[in-house]
Amino acid sequence: MITLSHLEKKYGDTYAVKDLSLSFPDAAITALLGPSGCGKTTTLRMINRLIEPSGGQVLLDGQDAARLKPEALRRGIGYVIQQIGLFPHLSVAQNVATVPDLLGRDRAQTRRRVDELLALVGLEPSVYRDKRPAELSGGQAQRVGVARALAADPPVLLMDEPFGALDPIARDEVQERFLNIQRELKKTVVIVSHDIDEALRMGDYVALMQSGQLAQFGTPDDLVRRP
Ligand code: ADP
Ligand code: ADP
Repeated sequence: MITLSHLEKKYGDTYAVKDLSLSFPDAAITALLGPSGCGKTTTLRMINRLIEPSGGQVLLDGQDAARLKPEALRRGIGYVIQQIGLFPHLSVAQNVATVPDLLGRDRAQTRRRVDELLALVGLEPSVYRDKRPAELSGGQAQRVGVARALAADPPVLLMDEPFGALDPIARDEVQERFLNIQRELKKTVVIVSHDIDEALRMGDYVALMQSGQLAQFGTPDDLVRRP
């Protein structure tokens, strides 16, 4: 479980994130929702320590993330962003296989998993596995990014606007595929979004942020229920 305890990030004398305390339930998707500039990305990047908090703590299964080795953090937490940054000189399959290869996993098994994951994100393996990133559309590249994060098989997946570059139809499809994958893999997932429809659709839970603080936390039903 990921727990944020009085987490803060200050730039100059302005708080990007202020006194944020929140737990992300295990094996569920939590949508971190809020308007642009409210501190979502900063929060996400403090979880995997790409940004050093100014105060407070991130606890991973009760352990202070500040004390974990960077390698342990990277192994345990997958990170998907809109500009996924595929390696341009590697094929799609090689990009997806990057982490398993680095970890020295069985090659034949990785090969099968790569094909499985490409199919899951809606890219026919026989067509796409040997393509280079330059030959892909933005949306296809994003799907490869999702497959690559899943191939690493981390227990936690942080996703920053992962479906942002997709057109509405592709977006529906990839969201649906991701939900199906999640039903099988049951990762602890945090999805940053400024889109309330996406948050309500994807989130088992929704954490609503406003001006660097938590405004509300609950299930989609809790969130839309009117008193
Ligand atoms: P969101 O992801 O919700 O759009 P961010 O977490 O990116 O919001 O940013 C939160 C606030 O912190 C914004 O006001 C932004 O301008 C500010 N901010 C983010 N990064 C920096 C930085 N490196 N230096 C100064 N201010 C920053
Ligand atoms: P090597 O030649 O050193 O085995 P490759 O470039 O063939 O390296 O493969 C690198 C990674 O990409 C491996 O993990 C492999 O499983 C994966 N890979 C390569 N080609 C394919 C393919 N056609 N289908 C699925 N996975 C592939």
